[in-house]
Amino acid sequence: MPDLSALKERFGEHCVFDEPAAGFTTYRAGGRAEAVVRPGSPADLLWLAGWCRERNVPLLVLGRGSNVLVSDRGLPGVIALTWRLSKIEISGSAIEAQAGAQWDDIARLSAERGLAGLEKTSGIPGSVGGAVRMNAGAFGQETFDRLASVEAFDASGAAVKLLKKDIAHGYRRAEGLDGLTILSARFEFEPGDPAVLIQDRSCVLASREAKQPLDYPSAGSVFKRPPGDYASRLIDAAGLKGHRVGGAMVSDRHAGFIINSGGATAADIYALILEVRARVKEQSGVELQLEQILLGEF
Ligand SMILES: Cc1cc2nc3c(=O)[nH]c(=O)nc-3n(C[C@H](O)[C@H](O)[C@H](O)COP(=O)(O)OP(=O)(O)OC[C@H]3O[C@@H](n4cnc5c(N)ncnc54)[C@H](O)[C@@H]3O)c2cc1C
Repeated sequence: MPDLSALKERFGEHCVFDEPAAGFTTYRAGGRAEAVVRPGSPADLLWLAGWCRERNVPLLVLGRGSNVLVSDRGLPGVIALTWRLSKIEISGSAIEAQAGAQWDDIARLSAERGLAGLEKTSGIPGSVGGAVRMNAGAFGQETFDRLASVEAFDASGAAVKLLKKDIAHGYRRAEGLDGLTILSARFEFEPGDPAVLIQDRSCVLASREAKQPLDYPSAGSVFKRPPGDYASRLIDAAGLKGHRVGGAMVSDRHAGFIINSGGATAADIYALILEVRARVKEQSGVELQLEQILLGEF
C-alpha cells in the first residue's frame, strides 16, 4: 500500500489515520479506517479520487455514515467524508445542494420557503449524496420525488450529469450510480403554503421523537419494508423486541431498529441482524432484505 501520509500535506487537520468507525458512522461501532479525509471542495474530492486511482488505493465516499455498518476488521485505504461540501443554493422553485449538505436542511429550508414535496422527509440524518444514493424517504415522500438532476464524476474522474429520468429508481433504490461520486444534486418543487409545510415537518419530527430510539446510536431501519407489511411488525411478532447480542439490541421502542446500547461491536450487530432475519423467516416465511450497507469483511 502506498504511503498515505502524503495526504496529510494537502489536507492537514482534515486528514486523520487509523480512525475508528465510531467517529464517522451513526452506529458508533466497527473497526478503523486506514485514512479519513474531509475534502473542502469538489476540486479537492476530485483530486483525492485521482490520487487514489493512480496508486490503486481503495477510496470510499461516505456522507454521514447513517446507513452503514463497518466491519470490526476495519477498512483499507481512504474514506472521503463529504461533510464540508455543504453549500445550498435556493433560486425560485429549485434547490441546488452539494453532496455533503445535511438532508434535513433541505427538508427544513424547502418547507420554510413554501417549496412542497420533501417536508415529510424531515429528520433523516444523512447527507444529500447519501439520500440520492439510497433514495431515502419517509412518510410517503422520497428523494426522487423532487430530484431533477445529479452532478458527479466517474471512476476515471470524468464529469457526469444525470437527469432524474436517467436513473432507474424505486423504494430505497437508485440504480446505475455505482462507481460515481456525487458532487451535488438539484431539486425542483411545487409551490405550497409554508405554514402547512412547517406544520407537516413538525408532526414528522414529533413522530420520530416518539417512535424511534433517537437516544441511542443506530443506523435507522435495518431492513427494507417487505411488500404489504412492515419489517418492524414482523420482528415484533417474532418476539424479538429487546433481544440482544452483546451490546447490540433490537430496540424495544421500534423493532425495525438495532441500537448500539453500549460497547457493541460490528460483529454483535451483524450476528443480531442474521438472527432477526432467521427468526422472522421461521415465524412468518418472509425473507427480510437488508437496507443498511455492510462495509468491509463480515
Ligand atoms: C435515526 C435514523 C433514522 C433514519 N431514518 C431514515 C428514514 O426515515 N428514511 C430513510 O430512507 N433512511 C433513514 N435512515 C438511514 C439514513 O439516514 C439514510 O439512508 C441516508 O440517506 C444515508 O445518508 P448518509 O449521508 O448517511 O449516507 P452514508 O451512510 O454515508 O452512505 C450510504 C451510501 O451512500 C454512498 N454515498 C454517500 N455519499 C455519497 C456521494 N457523495 N457519492 C456517492 N456515493 C455516496 C455511500 O458510499 C454508501 O454506499 C435513518 C438513519 C438513522 C440513524
